[in-house]
Amino acid sequence: MNVYDSERMGELLEANGYKITEEISQSDIVILNTCNIREKAAEKIYSELGRIKKYRDIRKESGLETIIAIAGCVAQAEGDEIKKRAPIVDIVIGPESYHHLPDMISDIKRKTGKKFSSQLDFTPNEKFDSLPKNRSAKGFSSFITIQEGCDKFCTFCVVPYTRGKEYSRPMNDIVDEIKNLTEKGVVEVSLLGQNVDAYHGKWLHGKWLDDNLEEKDANLAQLIEEVSKIPEIKRIRYTTSHPNNFTADIISQHGTNPKLMPYLHLPVQSGSNTILQLMNRKHTREKYFEIIQNVRKARPDIAISSDFIVAFPGETDQDFQDTMDLVNKIGFSQSYSFKYSPRPGTPAALKDLIPDDIASNRLYALQALLKSQQTQFNQKFLGSVMPVLFESLGTRATKQVVGKSPYLQAVIIDVPEGKSEADFLGKIFNVEITTVLENSLLGILLV
Ligand code: SAH
Ligand code: SF4
Repeated sequence: MNVYDSERMGELLEANGYKITEEISQSDIVILNTCNIREKAAEKIYSELGRIKKYRDIRKESGLETIIAIAGCVAQAEGDEIKKRAPIVDIVIGPESYHHLPDMISDIKRKTGKKFSSQLDFTPNEKFDSLPKNRSAKGFSSFITIQEGCDKFCTFCVVPYTRGKEYSRPMNDIVDEIKNLTEKGVVEVSLLGQNVDAYHGKWLHGKWLDDNLEEKDANLAQLIEEVSKIPEIKRIRYTTSHPNNFTADIISQHGTNPKLMPYLHLPVQSGSNTILQLMNRKHTREKYFEIIQNVRKARPDIAISSDFIVAFPGETDQDFQDTMDLVNKIGFSQSYSFKYSPRPGTPAALKDLIPDDIASNRLYALQALLKSQQTQFNQKFLGSVMPVLFESLGTRATKQVVGKSPYLQAVIIDVPEGKSEADFLGKIFNVEITTVLENSLLGILLV
């Protein structure tokens, strides 16, 4: 979601006469888009600011100003406090109000006496309405935020505080944005939300140019169906789903919609019912098993991935073994796992921490198991043929292109004699998998 937000901020500034540069030394404005989900991510900004300060000081010697903005969830959580800890910061802007950026920058530049500006409103509808309608896609696969915020208040999580209340964008706006992206060559979209399956956007339904458009609420399954009607869109993905919003009609899309990729990221966090309750997840491990069973019935080859938190306050050895047991029973294609990180202002942060050596051992054991399942999942494809969407050039000197399988695995092929990389980019080809590496698959083109 932060990648998407950064792209939108870039487009917004481009529409206001700025240009994007990869070089900090050339930047009149540097925006750090930040993540507050775990302490490690949040702390990164202060070391990064130290690096930026060096460039700012060198530029100053040549009479050049550098405006420094902190955007994203750390900005939202820490607000004006950031300025106290890092006085070089000029702008603090939350993730739901970054459409104000151009005005805030102008204010600072005009030197109206304003030396610092902050904007932390929760106005997602105003934000999306103010962003440029013309997108500048940089590849063939694009993220698109369809839902933001969260009302679930899991006891470990900052998202409800930093992204605000759950908000769904109107479906027609999303479809228009995707159509605009297809004009730039986009063929795959990933629909994003903190709880993407809780999506319920307004939908003006009926014939266009007809005055009798009916307004109703669309859910994620209906949105996926509408997006799949766009001919240029070949692949649809979505993330992140919450088990409590995962409905039968999304499952049925997986069984019937060939453009919906066979991949489901469904975080479970823990396999222990006691811990799930302490986390306020409001579902049991049994409910999780039931969902996975139903999805696999509809789409037997689907890849399942998840998020896990180990050493949540109160987690016993038995609770952790319940998580290992859940992982063994489900079989994941890949997953993300984290040590619990106490976040200021969340209920769980008031509880005693599990000692770090125990937390590390649990994380190590869980990651070893998840890694072995990932390897096992990938090994299954040795010798098989998969449709691969090629997206980028390889990093080796030889001519290679890299793409994604339907199951989100990176697949690399050598470009055959007489062909160029450009013949592949943005297109889907059948590839026979010849080698399975740790993080990618190698294959040859089937012609
Ligand atoms: N809305 C999604 C997850 C969003 S946060 C859901 O409910 O599943 C992304 C992931 O970060 C979470 O799934 C969780 O595994 C991890 N995470 C969030 N807060 C955390 C914390 N305080 N400590 C460790 N991991 C955390
Ligand atoms: Fe955070 Fe997800 Fe829980 Fe919402 S549902 S509070 S985003 S972990």
